[in-house]
Amino acid sequence: MAGNKTFTMIKPDAVENGHIGAILEQITASGFRIVALKLTQMTKNDAEEFYAIHKERPFFGELVEFMTRGPIVAAILEKDNAVEDFRTLIGATNPEEAADGTIRKKYAKSIGENAVHGSDSDENAQIEGAFHFAGREMF
Ligand code: UDP
Repeated sequence: MAGNKTFTMIKPDAVENGHIGAILEQITASGFRIVALKLTQMTKNDAEEFYAIHKERPFFGELVEFMTRGPIVAAILEKDNAVEDFRTLIGATNPEEAADGTIRKKYAKSIGENAVHGSDSDENAQIEGAFHFAGREMF
C-alpha cells in the first residue's frame, strides 16, 4: 500500500522569484496537509549528501551549487498516495516536458533550476524528511 507522506523543497530559484506563497497555496489546494515546514539553507555538505545518488552525474557540481546558493523551503506533506500524487502535481523534471498547470510548468525555467523537489518513493520520503526535520518539528 502506498504511504501517505512525501517530502518537498521549494528550491532557491522559486524562493528568489517570490513564489513561496503561490506554490504552498497550490499544494494545499491540491489536498496536501503540511505537517512540517521551514525556511532553511543547505550547506555544501548537506546538498552533497542529499543528492549523493547523483554523485557521478555530469550535472552534480552545478546541482550542489544551485541548491546551496540561497534559502529553500522544506516541507513534509500528508495525503493518500502522497508520493505519486505530488509528483503528478509538480510535473516532469524538465519544465518543457511538464504538463500544463503543474508547478514546474508554471514556475521552473530549466531542467536544473526546476522550482521544486518531490520524493520519488515512500522510502526516500521518509529519509529526506528525517534529513531536514527533527521529530519535534513534525506534526
Ligand atoms: N537535474 C539537473 N540536470 C539534469 C537532471 C536533473 O540539473 O539533467 C537536477 C534537477 O534539479 C533535478 C535534480 O537534479 O530536480 C534531481 O534529478 P532527478 O532526475 O532525481 O529529478 P526529479 O526527481 O527531481 O524530477
